[in-house]
Amino acid sequence: MPNTNVSIFNDVMGPIMRGPSSSHTAAANRIGRILRPFCMSLTANNHASSESTENEILVMVKYDPAGSLATTAGPQGSNIGLAAGILGFDCKDERLKDSETLLELSGISFTTEIGIIGENDHPNTYHITIKNPKTGGSHWMIALSTGGGAIHIQSVDGVNIDSKGDRHMCLLYVSHSSAALLSQKLAAKQISCRKWINVCHRHERVRYSKEEQEANEKIQMILIESLGPIDIESISDDIAVLCAAVIMIPCVMPVPRPEDINLPFTTCSEMQSWMGNNHCVIGEWLPFELACQYESARSGLKTTEIVEKMAEIVDIYDESIKTGLRGTTFEDRILGAQSVIYKQNLEKNGTLYDLGLIDSVILYTSAFMEMKSSFGLIVAGPTAGSCGTVPGCIIAAGKKLGKDRTDMARALLVCGLVGVFIATKSTFAAEEGGCQAECGAAGAMAAAGLVALKGGDTRQCFVASSLTLQSLLGMVCDPIGNRVEAPCLMRNVCAASMACSSANMAMSNYTAVIPFDEVIAAHWEICKAMPRSLRCTGLGGLAAQPSARKIEEELLKGRGCSSCSCSTPFNTY
Ligand code: SF4
Repeated sequence: MPNTNVSIFNDVMGPIMRGPSSSHTAAANRIGRILRPFCMSLTANNHASSESTENEILVMVKYDPAGSLATTAGPQGSNIGLAAGILGFDCKDERLKDSETLLELSGISFTTEIGIIGENDHPNTYHITIKNPKTGGSHWMIALSTGGGAIHIQSVDGVNIDSKGDRHMCLLYVSHSSAALLSQKLAAKQISCRKWINVCHRHERVRYSKEEQEANEKIQMILIESLGPIDIESISDDIAVLCAAVIMIPCVMPVPRPEDINLPFTTCSEMQSWMGNNHCVIGEWLPFELACQYESARSGLKTTEIVEKMAEIVDIYDESIKTGLRGTTFEDRILGAQSVIYKQNLEKNGTLYDLGLIDSVILYTSAFMEMKSSFGLIVAGPTAGSCGTVPGCIIAAGKKLGKDRTDMARALLVCGLVGVFIATKSTFAAEEGGCQAECGAAGAMAAAGLVALKGGDTRQCFVASSLTLQSLLGMVCDPIGNRVEAPCLMRNVCAASMACSSANMAMSNYTAVIPFDEVIAAHWEICKAMPRSLRCTGLGGLAAQPSARKIEEELLKGRGCSSCSCSTPFNTY
């Protein structure tokens, strides 16, 4: 789904996470962290203790049978992501994989069901109800995962709050009779807020009159948003007293959204016009400077802060690749540590064809994907499923060229800018557009980063992106055994190899024929035309073949990689 105000750090190069899927595990974790204060507000003592065994709160999540989550929420980590978020863990937390058990121990009962949602046709829709059965207090929320870890909180308690989780929020529930006084107090403090009446909400600690309780539709909800955490007591010490409930919701994205955003450009052609109107003092804008101009306008960060933030991502890439190359294991997994064998073969002269840079790209892409499949720390850029392509290319090329972390961070910013253009006009969500949305985008991003790293100009960067994305259009999403491993690894290697080829072709002034903006338009058209069975549902393509079904059965019996002595447990051909 096309997006507005896309941020390189919020929507493209991240989240920094553990788990199989950014649009499942990481996005669900962010939704869970937003759910947490609603759960806490319904507990008797306003917090869930890890010692409690009494299930006083019920969290019930409904997935639509026509969407993607009905078949993928369990195996691709949505449920553990939600549970971890409700516990207050972020998606880097090592306890993530045990979070459903830990949530149960904390006194919160978590259940899922398949049922028609109806109001929303997005394939990644979470319809969530939270209840305290003893008191009757309840809340409900409709939230979407929109790809690559991005979220959209559509509604809370029946009102459209329309949030991407990128602001701190405070929800004030107030009775009709107190609402005017509360509004006056907020206005006196120059607090701008959004207000709704007729909120469908029940809370056990309401102080409404009997008549008001009978006319529950008169409850009002007031939303205050802020860049930083909101301290309601410091705004006015009697605001909380006037309210039936106050719910503080944290910003769950890396970069909060400022009040006013004036983006310099959101497409390649707008960027070209902007460059024409804003001549650079040293002659020509370097590709990474354009990325910094964009992100600075989006997030308010300075160029030095932006480059350093991206250099921290370089460090994670580097460390995770090194860890991956030492070999990884995980029980619920199809593939073993294949990168270890590739590395050994590279070290034995003559075993393999000499592919030069592409050999290192295959090695690093594989190692990073194996980290993802073993709950290691990764950066989902643009998604967890496609997370190997960009580091595989940029870290391998960076090392080959003797570049430092700042050089590689600048190249990654160019990758990020390409991702911004794709996310603004199309999607990273495989549930909306298949693997072209994930690995297609990753390849286009990596191609531009490779050109920038080698000193190519802006035009060559976007020609490389265009050539790569043109080559990967139409790629379907059909993950075997509903795990984000195969064919995901091969699709990442394919995207990364194409990125290397396109970078060299672009730097040799090959023509893209179709400009990048139009390739993105075609990408979105193809997303919309792709059948549901090939959009991350496990219902078609490779996922529906007999061998894939057998692997799925074996995984359900707990017979994955760790129970087998060889490194490729399903070794058929
Ligand atoms: S096939 Fe592609 S889009 Fe689908 S889960 Fe794997 S990497 Fe993601």
